[in-house]
Amino acid sequence: EVLFDLRPKNTRSDLFDREVELGRFVEYVGGLGLPITLVLGFRRVGKSSLILVAIREMGLPSIYIDLRKFEERQYLSYRDFILELQHEVNNLTSRFPGLLDFLRNISGVSIMGNQVLFSWKSSNRASLSSLLDALNDWASNGVVIVLDEAPELVKARGFNVLPVFAYAYDNLRKVRFIISGSKMGLLYRFLRIRDPESPLFGRAMDIVELSPFTRDQVAEFLRRGFEELGIEFRDFDAVYEELGGIPGWLTYFGLRYYEYRDLDKAINETMSYATALIMQEFHNFLTDKAAAKDRYLAIMRIVARECAGWGEIKNGLEVALGMEVSDSRISEYLRQLLDSAWIIKVGNKYCPAEPLIGAAFR
Ligand code: ADP
Ligand code: MG
Repeated sequence: EVLFDLRPKNTRSDLFDREVELGRFVEYVGGLGLPITLVLGFRRVGKSSLILVAIREMGLPSIYIDLRKFEERQYLSYRDFILELQHEVNNLTSRFPGLLDFLRNISGVSIMGNQVLFSWKSSNRASLSSLLDALNDWASNGVVIVLDEAPELVKARGFNVLPVFAYAYDNLRKVRFIISGSKMGLLYRFLRIRDPESPLFGRAMDIVELSPFTRDQVAEFLRRGFEELGIEFRDFDAVYEELGGIPGWLTYFGLRYYEYRDLDKAINETMSYATALIMQEFHNFLTDKAAAKDRYLAIMRIVARECAGWGEIKNGLEVALGMEVSDSRISEYLRQLLDSAWIIKVGNKYCPAEPLIGAAFR
């Protein structure tokens, strides 16, 4: 067991802390909660790890759809989605062959030997609601459907999963959804819970929110991780000051320190790794905003220098561009940056969402 492993953790013993969140999660998803549980938190804060550990702890059968792999895409077709789902359903049927009998009569689903095939052709699309019906009939204690990084589904073209969620929410007692998102505002915009026109209008959901580690948790996380590796380490505060409390960056730092045994070098390497990754993700964020690319970059540079109020951002942006920008445009840019968790609002100032996002734009 290694705490400084870059992959999401999937066993309790590899997960540092998160006792409270795990307990709440198991209580909700294990049956006492609402049909949908949202898992929210910044990128690399440990959402996938928490979900994987919890599922394993509960011992419930699950279908895990990782939508993060579509992050770089401009849109997501029904075919992309259904092939992903097909792959996961096949994982499930290989563990539980009895499920095959429940899937046999669904339109758009065929079974060849023990392989399940979903059709994406518009004439004979696999019916998601029938699939969920079948899972509900099959499951004895419940079945969990995870949509990890669900906000990527805003890019769906030619299909909409919300009516299916609503149907399952209202009718299928044994199907539990776990929906995670780093881009929290975008997730709410996607689910449209407050929009009377939305299929999910008014449906309550349980929420588990993951925060970055506190200063004390950072120290304990590093102490534990280095202890596993037989290394003496004391510079917890320096790490917290430079890197903040995002577990993903701390994990990377731990590995680099293990390699170099040099604090500054390990911190610098972590900063450049983080910068590259953050800029790559920012680039993905900009794919459908190409015309305003320079504006978003300018705003990020302004708030990275120092948290800034609305007026300061407007002035700074106008100076950077050498032209006026309307108030409504500024508000729209800030809303997009907030919704995708690039910035946060602290009092009436806008700040980078976490220290390394700030560092990446300085
Ligand atoms: P997210 O899904 O929120 O982006 P991940 O679960 O992928 O985050 O975690 C990012 C990285 O941080 C991974 O390397 C993971 O192993 C590590 N990590 C996150 N939370 C913890 C934790 N509580 N204990 C140990 N490692 C963690
Ligand atoms: Mg994740």
